[in-house]
Amino acid sequence: MIKEMLAYLYKLWYSLFRKFFIKEGGNMSKINYKMEELANDILVKNDAFKLPVDLISIANNNDIDVYKQKLPDGISGAIRYNKDINRFQILLEKDESLTRQRFTLAHELAHFFLEREKLLMQEEVHFDTKFRRYHNDEENEADYLAGALLMDKKMLSILYRINSSISVLAKTFNVSESSMTVRLMILGLIK
Ligand SMILES: [Zn+2]
Repeated sequence: MIKEMLAYLYKLWYSLFRKFFIKEGGNMSKINYKMEELANDILVKNDAFKLPVDLISIANNNDIDVYKQKLPDGISGAIRYNKDINRFQILLEKDESLTRQRFTLAHELAHFFLEREKLLMQEEVHFDTKFRRYHNDEENEADYLAGALLMDKKMLSILYRINSSISVLAKTFNVSESSMTVRLMILGLIK
């Protein structure tokens, strides 16, 4: 009897603990349906439902030029609207790992799709640093959309059922294992 009571109390405590600490601490396990829908839309409109997703062709389809070059210390990527030639330009740090460059490209594309008008108005360059310590909504949304573009919810959910190995999935989607882990957590496929 006491044992059962204790088990019950433990369960109760654990569920409260999860509710207040684990859920609260993690925006990780939350699916942003608006962003998922937008990512899906972008992939459909750009005929990009092939793995790994071809970000360069999405950029080209939208008249965005992508350059890989040496950027100032600590900068991973940048996006700007160049008024003189009427085109958007994305810069990527050429010495970072290819999966990192790919995520940065997805992040800059996300800025384009989310804030095109704002970028058009302001002529300044938007820089993204290597260790993003920011906690602002625009950057978090750009990161979310980047993950959703690279690892489409439906495609990933189907492939996860076939093979749940993070390293295999990361290779299939051409992303880093840490990006894959975060995405699987967001989608609630792993805890
Ligand atoms: Zn950014």
